[in-house]
Amino acid sequence: MTKKTESKESLNPGHDYPDLEVSPPEDWAVGLPAIYHSMEPAIVQLGLTRTAKLMTSMNQKDGFDCMSCAWPDPDKRKALEFCENGARAVTWEATPVTVPTSFWAENSVSDLLTKSEYWLGMQGRLTEPVYKPAGSDHYEPISWDKAFSLLGERLRGLDSPDKAVFYTSGRTANETAFVYQLFARAYGTNNLPDCSNMCHESTSLALGEVIGIGKSTIAYDDFERADLIIILGQNPGTNHPRMLTALEDAKKNGAKIVAVNPLPEAGLMRYKNPQKVRGIVGRGTTLADQFLQIRSGGDMALLQALSKRVLDAEAANPGTVLDHDFLAKHSSGLAEFTAHLAGLDEAEVLAATGLDAVEIDELAERYLASDRVIISWAMGLTQHRNSVATLKEVINLLLLRGNIGKPGAGASPIRGHSNVQGDRTMGIWEQVTPAFLDAIEAEFGFSPPRPHGMDALKSIAAMQKGEVSVFFALGGNFVAALSDTEATEAAMRGCDLTVQVSTKLNRSHAVIGSEALILPTLGRTEFDLQKSGPQFLSVEDTVCAVHATHGSVPPVAPGLLSEVSIVTRMAVAALGDSGPIDWNGMEADYDLIREHISRVVPGFEDFNEKVRRSSGFILPNGPRDTRSFDTETGKAMITVNALEPLERPEGRLILQTLRSHDQFNTTIYSLNDRYRGIKNGRDVVFVNSEDLTELGLEDGQRVDIVSEWAGEPDRYLRNYRVVSYPTAKGCAAAYFPEANVLVPLASAAIGSNTPVSKAVIVRLEPVASASTR
Ligand code: SF4
Repeated sequence: MTKKTESKESLNPGHDYPDLEVSPPEDWAVGLPAIYHSMEPAIVQLGLTRTAKLMTSMNQKDGFDCMSCAWPDPDKRKALEFCENGARAVTWEATPVTVPTSFWAENSVSDLLTKSEYWLGMQGRLTEPVYKPAGSDHYEPISWDKAFSLLGERLRGLDSPDKAVFYTSGRTANETAFVYQLFARAYGTNNLPDCSNMCHESTSLALGEVIGIGKSTIAYDDFERADLIIILGQNPGTNHPRMLTALEDAKKNGAKIVAVNPLPEAGLMRYKNPQKVRGIVGRGTTLADQFLQIRSGGDMALLQALSKRVLDAEAANPGTVLDHDFLAKHSSGLAEFTAHLAGLDEAEVLAATGLDAVEIDELAERYLASDRVIISWAMGLTQHRNSVATLKEVINLLLLRGNIGKPGAGASPIRGHSNVQGDRTMGIWEQVTPAFLDAIEAEFGFSPPRPHGMDALKSIAAMQKGEVSVFFALGGNFVAALSDTEATEAAMRGCDLTVQVSTKLNRSHAVIGSEALILPTLGRTEFDLQKSGPQFLSVEDTVCAVHATHGSVPPVAPGLLSEVSIVTRMAVAALGDSGPIDWNGMEADYDLIREHISRVVPGFEDFNEKVRRSSGFILPNGPRDTRSFDTETGKAMITVNALEPLERPEGRLILQTLRSHDQFNTTIYSLNDRYRGIKNGRDVVFVNSEDLTELGLEDGQRVDIVSEWAGEPDRYLRNYRVVSYPTAKGCAAAYFPEANVLVPLASAAIGSNTPVSKAVIVRLEPVASASTR
């Protein structure tokens, strides 16, 4: 514990938040304030006419898909089909404010480094390509032709295609993702990291292995048919607010809801539906019938304890508890699992979860009393060291009573970014299957590279070794999204050329290689006109429904290119236009891209016809549709996973990173977090009051948060205000992305390589000249 890494300043340079206000957290979500908070910025920034056009097009069948989370749309849509956060995302993107040409001479890259994410985003939409030459501290405008020519030249100049990395953000639509991965492979590399690497990679891996598909096994309507919905490690009120309507409908139909989380998030407790009278003038709907305030990292122990109780109940009344027919026909591994759980140590479970046995008993009884059970989860389950094993335990529990492949039941990972799931379906994956590569080869007549490429963390490690020359990002804010901010930023600066395709400025435009390009692109809200006429794109939501998304308003400035145009023109610049792939044709008419997809990607046959249906189409899903499981055993695999509880050393806390309510991924819309009682600031750490007493700290005190990782210097997040908060005992929380600096690059989930952002061992050190506010 020697060298100190200064890092708070790296994401919010010089920002102390003198006006920070703290009040008690809310116990309900949405209601009238959400209407005000969603519409006020839209009307102020966009004006009434543009606001009306955008808000009545959002998530409609002939409109555009919300670019925020991946929550699905019901078949029957209301006139206004969006939430507060969706409205904010649209306002953020569709603002008429643009970055003027003079901005680049007035603001050096060094200046941009001192600005907060909020300030950068508030400068408006990017409208012209800019280039930062080597040795200069300024971007300067460049023509599109020169930008592509430079990019093509740099890519052709690499001595190996594997020295280039092509990152994708989850906003990227299906057609764009397909041509992008096609380009990367035609160029010669599988280096295709994406934002999945930081979020649901553990889900994809675990479910892919044990049920044969790394996706949800439910459809939208299953929520209203469920008897019991267990929500683990998820905060729907902030991260996918329209899920609250589905939960309310489920409750109306008699479902019970159980929330399992270290923090009692408002959206898990009570929902005031702003489209219903009782949501506006009444108390709204109580959502969670049971709340288990689990210790961070305790989910696997809880899931094993629940499965053990199910197996014990079966042993007590043989033939009456398990779904024997399903298990016999469709599963493997039950005997080994039963034997393994026989040795489960209840004391170890209680210590790992921080729960009482009676709470676990109650949830087990609910599970046993329910014929149709959905288990839903998000980052709270996927960003732990043992996430892959934990998710296999989710499936184990579901399988015991046949809760996969029947109405109202199944596994429901909720993806956080609108098309992150579709991007993976389209082949944005550094480890794509041989079958996918075979299909590419058959369709396009070239041999794609077969060795696996690099994910996000491996790309950073390669940059640290000087093995990456060109980093290309199709959207996103890579350096802010990834863990270990200092190390990640240092690695990025070692690249020769960094390229960002973006709608607005963010931190990743200031943390760059010796040369850098920013290529501005159309937003999802905007018309996309190509040579053959107006174009549309498509996305896949978190329950595997694919549908079209149509721009609804004119582009904010002339000359902006679509992401498809940027990718295809980059391909022509790097590879020429005489090869086997018709890049120009695909740019001119996206139907041509969809024709290729229909022959390469299973489930997309007749894509051009199906995507034009008003509700789109649902992708085939073996576990959901036919209880077929494309796994090693040909059956759903009940697996044995060793329980290795997370140890919390004396005087330390388990810290999780989380988003504020006014935030989407790394985009900060305001400094408020209404449900948690935080206003005008983000430098707070939420700590249980009993822990504060034990640690000799007080609410309001200023502390440094220090993360410890064996063999490495401590990481510091300085001068944070302690907020006494009803989080689980022994646990703490601080905002992402600022707290990323505390997550070591080496701390990654086993198998999925996802940063362990939900379980960072920290100590809190009082600031020497501590003032309390
Ligand atoms: S729930 Fe998600 S997809 Fe729907 S409007 Fe809100 S942010 Fe957008």
